[in-house]
Amino acid sequence: MRVIGLFCAFVGSLPATANSFVPSTSHGSTNLPTNNEGTIKMTSDSNIEPVYAAKTVSAFDKYKKEHAQSIKSPSKYWGKLAREVLDWEVPFDSHRVLQGDLTNGDVRWFSGGKLNVAYNALDRHDPKKLAMIWEGDEPDDVRRITYGEMTNKVSQIANALKAKGVKKGQVVTIYMPMIPELAMTMLACARIGAVHSVVFAGFSSDALGSRIQAANSEVVVTADHGLRGSKRIPLKDIVNAAVEHVKDKDLVKHVLVWERNYEGPESEAPYEMNSNDVRMDILVDDQRPYCPPEPMEAEENLFILYTSGSTGLPKGLVHTTGGYALYAAHTTKTTFDLAPDDIFACVADCGWITGHSYVVYGPLLNGATTFMFESTPVYPDEGRYWDMVQRHKITQFYTAPTAIRLLMRYGEEAVQKYDLSSLKVLGTVGEPINPEAWRWYYEVVGKSKCTIVDTYWQTETGGHIVTNIPGVTPMKPGSCTLPFYGIDAVVLDPADGHVVEPDENGKAEGVMAVRQPWPGMARTCLGDHARYKTVYLKPYPGYYFTGDSVMRDEEGNHFIIGRVDDIINVSGHRIGTAEVESALVAHPAVAQAAVVGRPHDLKGQSIAAFCMLRKGYEESPELLTELKMNVRHEVGAFCSPDLIVVSPTLPMTRSGKIMRRILRKIVCGETDSLGDISTLADPSIVDTLIEKVGKK
Ligand code: ATP
Ligand code: MG
Repeated sequence: MRVIGLFCAFVGSLPATANSFVPSTSHGSTNLPTNNEGTIKMTSDSNIEPVYAAKTVSAFDKYKKEHAQSIKSPSKYWGKLAREVLDWEVPFDSHRVLQGDLTNGDVRWFSGGKLNVAYNALDRHDPKKLAMIWEGDEPDDVRRITYGEMTNKVSQIANALKAKGVKKGQVVTIYMPMIPELAMTMLACARIGAVHSVVFAGFSSDALGSRIQAANSEVVVTADHGLRGSKRIPLKDIVNAAVEHVKDKDLVKHVLVWERNYEGPESEAPYEMNSNDVRMDILVDDQRPYCPPEPMEAEENLFILYTSGSTGLPKGLVHTTGGYALYAAHTTKTTFDLAPDDIFACVADCGWITGHSYVVYGPLLNGATTFMFESTPVYPDEGRYWDMVQRHKITQFYTAPTAIRLLMRYGEEAVQKYDLSSLKVLGTVGEPINPEAWRWYYEVVGKSKCTIVDTYWQTETGGHIVTNIPGVTPMKPGSCTLPFYGIDAVVLDPADGHVVEPDENGKAEGVMAVRQPWPGMARTCLGDHARYKTVYLKPYPGYYFTGDSVMRDEEGNHFIIGRVDDIINVSGHRIGTAEVESALVAHPAVAQAAVVGRPHDLKGQSIAAFCMLRKGYEESPELLTELKMNVRHEVGAFCSPDLIVVSPTLPMTRSGKIMRRILRKIVCGETDSLGDISTLADPSIVDTLIEKVGKK
């Protein structure tokens, strides 16, 4: 769902708390004075939009100054940070902090430097400190792991990988449930310089097989099964089928299998053993708990990861060692105002970039305690997230708008039962968050005391590129606000690629791009640098192109309008999906909505909307009229959908994003060319929707 706060600012009176808003205070990491004042900005007589103040004017000014400096002298800014944040085995050359550029696609950071990311994430921290709290599918299945324990275990896994022939530079495919061994296997790869390719353990055997083949991966690490909402997922069986599917039959030399309920070396393997299978727990137990960290050049590969596949065939991005580690660490610390004793919870899966940067690398590089979660937000009931916050005293909580909207459907009671006073910062990522959901997150979960950080970024960017910063920059519902340090964000005219000048109201609308390299950016697409250049660098020479449309307001705040491919053109008006969808979910009956364009003789395109209703609501002609009225009122009469389909669910990627390209094909009757649907969470929805649209 894409939403622009500006177009659908809060209507009506503000909650009483907004007048005396105090953003969350740091537990010490930013050390700023705390004379906070909230401000309310009137946008029109009827629209009042709260603009929450930065902690102090001076903090905001400091951000502006530092941001400008980071853009003006990137080598100085990132060079200094790289020395402070990371431990280098061999220092990088101070005159080669940044080389290459976006025009040539040959970006390199920290040349000459060598470091090991696993060493930076583990060995250098207090061994007695908790590195991870893990909660499994059942709430009472909890593990607490110290830095000392994790360092030793990661070394053992690293030695086990070596024993099975894994060498520096080789790709290890990981297909595992969200158990601590997944994070530790990633770190073990990093320790020996192997490149991990984590494939989300919800993907089919075909999707896994093609990723194993694409990466030429000789070793696959999995587990016998995963658990989600008490449902057993037979991962090992899926891997067996995937290995069959790999074109090169001799490619996979070993499948290493963790057992979810390992009972010792004498126990029977709870799965069928093939000749190349190895029981990982037994192998690991036999290894020495020390493995020397491999010094890696800053530009050597750390991992491969695929995008969500929302807009087409997923892209396998390659992230490198020094730049990625620095960017993951720095964004975690800054965006979440991370303090040493925080319990940092990002509930994303490690199969996605959010799990890589903010479950594993970011928190551990900072020496924080990371919280890892295996289950779903509604198991055993819809209070699961908040119960975990209470029990583990979580300080930062990071999730996606789709989860927030899902939980909103159950009402406030499920949240109010729990003590959430430990929370300081609430994060959101993955899609634009509509102001309804933002407000619910802010008021009901955060009790109007926490900072909401709306973090805009991509698999390709490695970490946040546009986000507000607690106590430093203001937050604004529906907007990801301002660029992160080192990010030279620009709005380009899609027609001619020029930088869009602000109009008479100070607003600029166009495509979102970045004008200079930053350390966390992916360097290439796996085995296909031409695709990397074609998708990201060639559309607007000299810029990194995000593929998203954006509106920047007179204060510099960014509102993501939607994907460029999803923009709808009705009678010459370019309409972002976000604003129409936001108007639909603003109706109490609608839980989620997706809109797409379809050809129209007169208007060029007209709008088709798909809506998922909240519990207790049913489809009726009156409801459909009300929904149309909502769009007319909030966005404009010309945007009123001429087709509304009420559907039980929407086509989502496995990472929880709406796949509009499929809806577009359905409303255009092009159902024989749906494109890649392997990343769809529930493919059966396609037939349901084809049938529903056919009846309309
Ligand atoms: P594909 O590239 O294969 O189509 P994808 O773009 O969904 O998949 P990701 O890298 O997981 O894959 O998602 C990045 C995209 O998610 C961004 O380009 C943007 O459209 C959206 N996004 C992420 N965070 C935000 C946010 N805070 N606000 C608005 N949009 C966001
Ligand atoms: Mg993308």
